[in-house]
Amino acid sequence: MSKLILKAGREKSLKRRHPWVFSGAVAKVQGNPGPGETIGLWSATGEFLAVAAYSPTSQIVARVWDWKERAIDRAFFGEHIKRAVEQRRTLLQDTDTDAVRLVHGESDGLPGVVADRYGDTVVLQLSSTGADRWRAEIADALLEASGAGRIWERSDADVRQLEGLAPVTAALRGAREPTRITVTENGLKFGVDLEHGHKTGFYLDQRDNRRRVRELARGREVLDGFCYSGGFALNAAAGGAKSVTAVDSSAEALALARGNAEMNGLAQAEWLEGDVFQMLRRFRDQARSFDLIVLDPPKFAPTAAHAEKAARAYKDINLLAFKLLRPGGLLATFSCSGGVGADLFQKIVAGSALDAGVQAQIIERLGPGADHPVALNFPEGDYLKGLICRVP
Ligand code: SAH
Repeated sequence: MSKLILKAGREKSLKRRHPWVFSGAVAKVQGNPGPGETIGLWSATGEFLAVAAYSPTSQIVARVWDWKERAIDRAFFGEHIKRAVEQRRTLLQDTDTDAVRLVHGESDGLPGVVADRYGDTVVLQLSSTGADRWRAEIADALLEASGAGRIWERSDADVRQLEGLAPVTAALRGAREPTRITVTENGLKFGVDLEHGHKTGFYLDQRDNRRRVRELARGREVLDGFCYSGGFALNAAAGGAKSVTAVDSSAEALALARGNAEMNGLAQAEWLEGDVFQMLRRFRDQARSFDLIVLDPPKFAPTAAHAEKAARAYKDINLLAFKLLRPGGLLATFSCSGGVGADLFQKIVAGSALDAGVQAQIIERLGPGADHPVALNFPEGDYLKGLICRVP
């Protein structure tokens, strides 16, 4: 096995079991390993640290598969995937739900591997050269552990470019058709476009929060900003909202949302195509107001380097939302930016309330569902945070 030897003292994060090695920490690589090949990680003093996948073109030059010396092979993926899938087995027992994340990358000990189950289909997303190299073994293990009938690959995230990998969208195991399927989440039906949908087709991490919004929506006039296929909007409608207005900039997302509304017999929502930043201003100028506003924007800050610009964007939309709330109104506001931590996000929202002139309170803190665990040794996995705020 080829060896990657770290610079003196640079083994500290690995000793805390953080699974990444950055290129700046590398003293030398012995043995000429190819992309994705399994290598050993060693300290400058000759101490074995881990076995990892080598990503020569990436800033993250190695990702740990295991902390002990072992072969990385079909059996390794079989074990890890079986464990991850079994951990999800009891999660959704009492819910009418058939969409769940089965494998959540680093947090399940499988860097670069995400697998989402949508009914009989598993959508696989491979985002590192290490994961990419083991595609066949991962697909077979997923089929076996999940009992699903087919695997779709949606490895088209931008991060693949950093790894020198081309995008892949294809049927990997089982039938190619249909590419439009329907999933059930807490009793609501959602269409998922396997080929063109965002991420793997659906934002599974917000499942519990969508249900919470359903519980809070009764009798309220609801605005869902950044609605995608209508997840929060339709939950609000199902929860007895008085009216639902939903905004997204993507015509395709809104087409899915309208279809979903129809499929669930919840056709009364108003679906608006546009930029939320502008729409919120328009509502303000029209003196429109709401009793419950959901803001679930895309990732404004993928890394801490984008935090400042992202902070301005979060500040802006939350400020406007606070202004549009009626007395007693609720704001459910989210950030899925890895580069903006929970503390910073709360500070930004506090600044928004201050500038909007409202004395708001946090009444709940929200995060991803249990199928999106956060490994304590991998804080980067803790990307989704939400606050429910109430204005007086
Ligand atoms: N709440 C959704 C997920 C939202 S994902 C759910 O529960 O499924 C973020 C969405 O924001 C995407 O659908 C994207 O099309 C949309 N979007 C991105 N920038 C936008 C903007 N400036 N204005 C409106 N929508 C935007």
